[in-house]
Amino acid sequence: MPKLVIRDDRCKGCSICVEFCPKDCLEITDRLNPLGYRPVGLRDPEACTGCAICARMCPEVVIEVWK
Ligand code: SF4
Ligand code: SF4
Repeated sequence: MPKLVIRDDRCKGCSICVEFCPKDCLEITDRLNPLGYRPVGLRDPEACTGCAICARMCPEVVIEVWK
């Protein structure tokens, strides 16, 4: 299974990665990060294919995908 590393302390909660994930794996969480934003989280790890579209789309370079 691919592994996502989400540096959510840098996330600005913009939802770009959520919108582009073809498997609907990601979601914006209810908690606040140190920047005061609601960061992204992995909602459905088993559905993730490791395509890395989320990592490529994120303007803050928050997500790394390891296979
Ligand atoms: S690697 Fe692909 S499938 Fe997995 S969360 Fe990112 S966009 Fe979605
Ligand atoms: S695209 Fe990046 S900054 Fe925006 S919600 Fe996703 S991880 Fe956070």
